[in-house]
Amino acid sequence: MPDSFDVVVLGSGAAGLTAAFTAAARGARVGVFEKADEVGGTAAWSGGNVWIPNNPLMAAAGATDSEAESMEYIMSLSRDLLEERLVRAYVRAGPEMVTFLDSEADTEFYVAEGFPDYHAENPGGRPGGGRTLETPLFPFDELGEWQHRVTRGPYFAELRLVQRETPIGAAVPNPPSAEELARRAARDERGRGQSLMGRLLKACLARGVVVTTGRRARRLVIEDGRVAGVEFDTPQGPGVVRAAAGVVLATGGFEWNEEYKRAFLRGPLTHPVTMPTSEGDGLYMAMKAGAMLGNMREAWWSPVADLPAGVNDMNRVMVNADRTRPRSIMVNRQGRRFTNEAANYNAFGGAFHQEDVATFSYANLPCWLIFDQEYLRRYGTVGPYPPGEVPPPWVIAASSLDDLAAKLEVPAEALKNTVAQWNANVATGRDPDFHRGESAHDRWWGDPHLKGQPEATLGPLEEAPFYAVSLKSGALGTKGGPRVDPDARVLDLDGEPIEGLYAAGNVMASPFGMTYGGAGGTLGPAMVYGYLAGRHLGARASGAAS
Ligand SMILES: Cc1cc2nc3c(=O)[nH]c(=O)nc-3n(C[C@H](O)[C@H](O)[C@H](O)COP(=O)(O)OP(=O)(O)OC[C@H]3O[C@@H](n4cnc5c(N)ncnc54)[C@H](O)[C@@H]3O)c2cc1C
Repeated sequence: MPDSFDVVVLGSGAAGLTAAFTAAARGARVGVFEKADEVGGTAAWSGGNVWIPNNPLMAAAGATDSEAESMEYIMSLSRDLLEERLVRAYVRAGPEMVTFLDSEADTEFYVAEGFPDYHAENPGGRPGGGRTLETPLFPFDELGEWQHRVTRGPYFAELRLVQRETPIGAAVPNPPSAEELARRAARDERGRGQSLMGRLLKACLARGVVVTTGRRARRLVIEDGRVAGVEFDTPQGPGVVRAAAGVVLATGGFEWNEEYKRAFLRGPLTHPVTMPTSEGDGLYMAMKAGAMLGNMREAWWSPVADLPAGVNDMNRVMVNADRTRPRSIMVNRQGRRFTNEAANYNAFGGAFHQEDVATFSYANLPCWLIFDQEYLRRYGTVGPYPPGEVPPPWVIAASSLDDLAAKLEVPAEALKNTVAQWNANVATGRDPDFHRGESAHDRWWGDPHLKGQPEATLGPLEEAPFYAVSLKSGALGTKGGPRVDPDARVLDLDGEPIEGLYAAGNVMASPFGMTYGGAGGTLGPAMVYGYLAGRHLGARASGAAS
């Protein structure tokens, strides 16, 4: 393996491989170094949705957009936390990246039909979707010796599918036939995050990118104020790889580093669902190099449930479609609803971190998703569990609401009142308490037979037995880290670029602040900032930029 490249990329997730491919396509000699024994990062475990406003595929899907409307939408979510120049760089480069990857890397992006923006009613929002992209099934036998070296993760069963076959945007999955699954198995065709990362990996390898796994970057080599290489752990001890043009930090977030979480996050993040290699290594290297940090309190939040051992490799699962289905609500330990249960997952960070000032505790932790027998019969439940009569062992079952209250140790009268109030609201077709079902987002999820109507998510809890699943404060990754400029160059404490150092993806201070614009809202900026880094470094390596 060479010990010198033009560009060294740390991490092989979406940000890393996009940066690597982009720089290599411009002629740079690129080495990607991955800490895990397999490539792909959490991106390979993901749904593979990529949110690119004003993307070139929208028109063919019957949607319209513009740079101005995209800016208006994102900035409407700013709360004065977003840096306009970084948002603009993202909005401008996103469409360019899609065209570039489709033509040079065979990504074959298409619009994930109808997926609304997460705050679709905000100015510039898209209730009818168009900004969320995915890639079609990809035959992994095209990866040759790398076919079995892409991380599959705990949610792999759903990664053989494309989005419309999953419970995303529908209360129940719409799986392909056994014959179709057998056809896919013949060439090891995979969808979603697997497809996205398989395609990017294939493109990188075709451009001569050297990918090395099992290499944990530890320190940056800094010479005369410029980042000139990286020191790695190797089986033989520390080893240095030099980078003539620069180094890209693409090492993901710090959600598996307890010390950093305690130091930086705004509230509990007890249940990350990402690769455990996301330990903040890039954050450490950036801090050592004198980087200015930003957005440190934030993560891409999500409700998560524990599962018993053996259901999947991580023993936990994100809870998304489940809480948008009719005949379910969420309650806190007061036995009360506390939010719009069908809101986007990121918004739950706010609900989970809400303080109860009187008791000096978190008002909505612990909390539970509760539902009735008809829900179980129609939709199944949390985790990979199909519709039916009998609940799986991880669900708390109770013969009545009194019994459920006793099992959850919440006040029985409050719980019964909450359910009665919910049922009364549902009967009127509205939720004046928390506005569930009013947003296009809420109505797109839920019961597919009622898609687009409030009833897709509104339904009474009336048939015993009743059930509960405890929900935890989880995340798809943190999003604070070194601040960057519009070329993804890491900035120092004076706002000057640290020569030769770039960052992209969850390792960097997200240009999105607290915001999650739409499905694909983390892979979108990760890839676009990877693209910006690769573009700048590619130009540098070929001598076209300083
Ligand atoms: C189930 C699930 C579904 C999701 N679905 C979506 C979706 O559809 N759309 C979306 O936008 N987001 C989704 N996400 C979130 C998304 O996967 C992440 O935000 C995204 O992967 C971040 O990309 P990244 O490149 O920054 O990091 P990662 O993909 O995590 O890659 C970082 C890589 O860096 C490596 N690394 C860490 N430290 C070092 C080191 N010291 N040296 C070398 N390598 C190192 C890691 O091992 C890892 O491989 C989902 C997440 C989950 C868990």
